[in-house]
Amino acid sequence: MFDKGILLIISGPSGAGKGTVVKELIKEDKYCLSVSVTTRKPRPGEIEGVSYYFRSEEQFEKLIADGELLEYAAFCGNYYGTPLKYVEERLAEGKNVILEIEVQGAVQVKERYPDAVLIFLTPESISDLEDRLRGRRTESDEVIAMRLSRAREEVKLMDKYDYIVLNDLVRNATSRINGIVETEKYASERNKDFPSKFLSEKGVD
Ligand code: 5GP
Repeated sequence: MFDKGILLIISGPSGAGKGTVVKELIKEDKYCLSVSVTTRKPRPGEIEGVSYYFRSEEQFEKLIADGELLEYAAFCGNYYGTPLKYVEERLAEGKNVILEIEVQGAVQVKERYPDAVLIFLTPESISDLEDRLRGRRTESDEVIAMRLSRAREEVKLMDKYDYIVLNDLVRNATSRINGIVETEKYASERNKDFPSKFLSEKGVD
């Protein structure tokens, strides 16, 4: 009882610190992280199968055609998508699964899994975001400008999300997210089988 896996979507503008927060969350074994497929080229230090599955456009299009993606979206000139099988298997095992994906993908997931919990992670302001993106030193000025303009669009879609989580400090953001997951676990909507279990001889285990 109260141990069904939750599908947790974490989105937020590029530079919001999603990667760091997710890394912190998955230190606890109550979460598993879905590794996405992308047509983007690897950044220094990124590892195949850990950071992403890096694939060509042709390979990505085949995954779409074969129905192997739960959702996918184009983002700043590249494709990104979530492998369906991994998510379905982990949820069936009762695990909480994290997808770190952008807004269009999040909306697609919510349509397919209305129980999914959508979290929008954000720094306090757009200038805060720009500082973080520049500090990362992984993107050119042109890419930073493109990602900032995308961020301006993304914040307008915040109302598609169930929760907005401020990432002022990583430990604050992770404890806010853990709190949300704990609360969601006990939602009556997720535990419709409670009455019959309660009334059975064995009771609620
Ligand atoms: P980056 O290139 O910085 O790794 O990721 C760019 C954006 O793509 C981020 O907002 C990230 O959350 C999003 N993203 C990563 N994987 C997926 C995915 O599988 N599906 C979708 N829709 N977005 C993704």
